[in-house]
Amino acid sequence: MPASAPKELSAPQRAMARLGLVRDIDLALHLPMRYEDETRLDALADAREGDTLQVEVTVAECRVEFRPRRQLVVRTTDDAGEVLVLRFLNFYPSQQKALAAGTRVRVRGELRGGFLGREMVHPALKPASAPLPTTLTPVYPTSAPLPQAYLRKAIASALQRAPLHELLPADSLPRELLSLKDAVLFLHQPPRGTPLAALEDRSHPAWQRLKFDELLAQQLSQLSAQRERARLKAPVLRAKPRGGLRERLLAALPFALTAAQRRVAEEIAADLAAGTPMHRLLQGDVGSGKTVVAALAATIAIDAGWQCALMAPTEILAEQHFRKLVLWLEPLGVQVAWLTGSRKGKGRREQLALVESGAAGLVVGTHAVIQQDVVFAKLGLAVVDEQHRFGVAQRLALREKLEASALEPHLLMMSATPIPRTLAMTYYADLAVSTIDELPPGRTPVVTKLFAEDKRDAVIARIRDEVAQGKQVYWVCPLVEESEAIELRDATATHQQLTAALPGAMVGLLHGRMAAGEKQAVMSLFTDGTMQVLVATTVIEVGVDVPNASLMVIEHAERFGLAQLHQLRGRVGRGAVASVCVLLYTPPLSPPARDRLRAMSETTDGFEIARRDLEIRGPGEFMGARQSGDALLRFADLQDTTLIARARAAAERLLAAHPQAAAAHVERWLASRVDYLKA
Ligand code: ADP
Ligand code: MG
Repeated sequence: MPASAPKELSAPQRAMARLGLVRDIDLALHLPMRYEDETRLDALADAREGDTLQVEVTVAECRVEFRPRRQLVVRTTDDAGEVLVLRFLNFYPSQQKALAAGTRVRVRGELRGGFLGREMVHPALKPASAPLPTTLTPVYPTSAPLPQAYLRKAIASALQRAPLHELLPADSLPRELLSLKDAVLFLHQPPRGTPLAALEDRSHPAWQRLKFDELLAQQLSQLSAQRERARLKAPVLRAKPRGGLRERLLAALPFALTAAQRRVAEEIAADLAAGTPMHRLLQGDVGSGKTVVAALAATIAIDAGWQCALMAPTEILAEQHFRKLVLWLEPLGVQVAWLTGSRKGKGRREQLALVESGAAGLVVGTHAVIQQDVVFAKLGLAVVDEQHRFGVAQRLALREKLEASALEPHLLMMSATPIPRTLAMTYYADLAVSTIDELPPGRTPVVTKLFAEDKRDAVIARIRDEVAQGKQVYWVCPLVEESEAIELRDATATHQQLTAALPGAMVGLLHGRMAAGEKQAVMSLFTDGTMQVLVATTVIEVGVDVPNASLMVIEHAERFGLAQLHQLRGRVGRGAVASVCVLLYTPPLSPPARDRLRAMSETTDGFEIARRDLEIRGPGEFMGARQSGDALLRFADLQDTTLIARARAAAERLLAAHPQAAAAHVERWLASRVDYLKA
């Protein structure tokens, strides 16, 4: 595997391995992100500052100057007599010699206006006698230890050897596509005069072929994973017909399930009873009530004599689940174990023993639940909350845990950030989806308002009004930990300011550095209505449920992600009172920040928020793939809807009629990446 490449490789070779560039074919499929046009010479007279150009000039004077740093300053003129100064801040004596007066050189760089007239800083140099290339010069995606020039050579040489013959039978390909070989060679070396726009926006026919092949590989691997999974065995988990845990939990709940909750609970129950591993995503907006659906699934597993593990991405979220599940399940005789990174020593060993002996029917925690020393007696069902917030490495670890036993456990993923349809088709073709499309009754939509920081006083006046009417208010500040570094107004200062501005009101403070007991004390004062205003860092992202809270102020809203803002806003509007969410921001806003705030003010629909989030951030980051440095799709993107649909259809035809060609195609595209795609 790339990560454990042997030591004797050179630094650039190791960097190539890390990028998945191992075989000739990997290099051949590593395509340029853009091009430089070195096929033409430009005229200085026609160029403007900011242009990147290539010109031939004659050196008039070359000397080392100190202004203020030591630097090499080369005065040159082109054939038309236009002056160009070249400036080098780092240089070798040999360069100085090569630029002696009278020498004719070809330089390429960005034109700037300088103190002495137009200049280029550190231009690329070539002898004027070198022939002009006939093809555009590719610029490849690379990483620091891998110089562009090294990569270019490696790719050019791999192209001579890489097997680029057609693997796919002609009848399985859309007819108008170029051959793979023609497309690849073209993209690495487009001939002079090829319009750059069609290359850069990837609409050129050569790109269409590459995107199709990439999407096809992905669809094939997902379809075959789906088929493989269908052959695997999982425990058959069925609810007891009468007097079982599930029935008793339903009877004990203080509310009736919504129709949507009943429907998705049935879909899950059917999967659990089927004998093949469930692989299902449960999506539903913030507050739609996913936890109880997970608890119902857990009761089925536990009743059937199996264990259930429930994982959340943060300790705070995990703790919230733990509390609720203990409350619901312990009265029914289910023991719930608790595993997080912060729990160590004896406490941890006790919990591990509960898991290993099987005494704990349910295990709740963070990714600590899938660490190596955690041994389940009989894991039948794993539930992962907010699964997209787990990194790729954690998702792989979970996979390994799931694969450890003879019978595969069932897997239920939950997300408040629904996966848009195109994304579901590309990345999650292999996933069944259940959607809770209805909120529990009695909630009122939240009105969202944007205010610049200079309206802070007006916002505080508004808080005064709410408090006077007996309502409660949240004020959310960004994390205390980060505030030093990025100069955020910290929660303590805000707390003081509000305390001073709201005499007679009780203003509390809640932040991540408080001990659990302290947090609990503050929380219960707010929950029972004694405290009117709660200043908090994002710890209240957890589902505190205070229906009387009618106003939420989010300070520095421009620093939050869209999904997080949506989650936070979900803390108000839980009762019958009309609620308001104020997003307080500090201008100037970056364009993505402006888009996020606009999205928040325009909609409260979690699906629409997710769609906008995807638009603003792009799929890689959306999926948490950013952390792994490994983009899931390199060439195609979610706008390629027609190609996605065609690749999907072609994948099904190929698997049915030409399974060997299908396997060879996947091998060609994904052999170095397959782990990530499975995650
Ligand atoms: P999420 O889907 O965001 O995880 P939760 O599971 O935390 O939502 O549920 C939000 C709140 O709604 C919780 O207090 C939960 O107990 C409550 N709840 C869940 N289902 C219902 C229902 N059918 N009727 C009323 N309240 C419900
Ligand atoms: Mg939840």
